[in-house]
Amino acid sequence: GDLADRIDRLATMVEDFPRPGVRFRDLAGVYAQPATFGAAAHALAAAYRDAFSHVVAVEARGFTLGTAVALAAGKPLVLVRKAGKLPGPLRSVKYDLEYGEDVLEMQESAVPPDGRVLIVDDVLATGGTLAAVAKLVTEGGAGVAGFGVLLELAGLGGVRRLHPHRLVALRTDR
Ligand code: 5GP
Repeated sequence: GDLADRIDRLATMVEDFPRPGVRFRDLAGVYAQPATFGAAAHALAAAYRDAFSHVVAVEARGFTLGTAVALAAGKPLVLVRKAGKLPGPLRSVKYDLEYGEDVLEMQESAVPPDGRVLIVDDVLATGGTLAAVAKLVTEGGAGVAGFGVLLELAGLGGVRRLHPHRLVALRTDR
């Protein structure tokens, strides 16, 4: 639709970033246009309506959209961060990167066990990051309402790793 086209036009393709052979989609142009950025936040909030109690935003590029969605929806915002950034008590999850592994953390009291979270990041690539965040949330007893991203890179098959949760991608690149 129209919003997907606007996101596509504002996103730029950067070859060989952050490493040779990688094509990076840079979404700075979306954040620089308040009408589109705001419409994106409202679209994600509307897609999940009353199905979620909290927004979980993923460090670092998920913080921008996640914050906007939480404000658009009038729902509490929870930050999932890389290891060592949040004061405890914490839960943490380890996940595989292309080279090595990384750890994400969330504060234990951030989402109550009866909470249902909308997990927000900028881009879905392999799905490793969002799958790890879902694990972090469900291990604490809360539910996952679904995932919301600006852009899905469908060629990497990330959506399969998000099963059985719902994904809303405002733009999909195939
Ligand atoms: P995944 O774990 O799905 O492989 O990668 C998703 C994470 O990597 C997201 O947190 C996202 O910020 C980042 N990422 C991967 N590829 C891109 C890209 O092409 N553009 C942007 N902006 N972020 C990316």
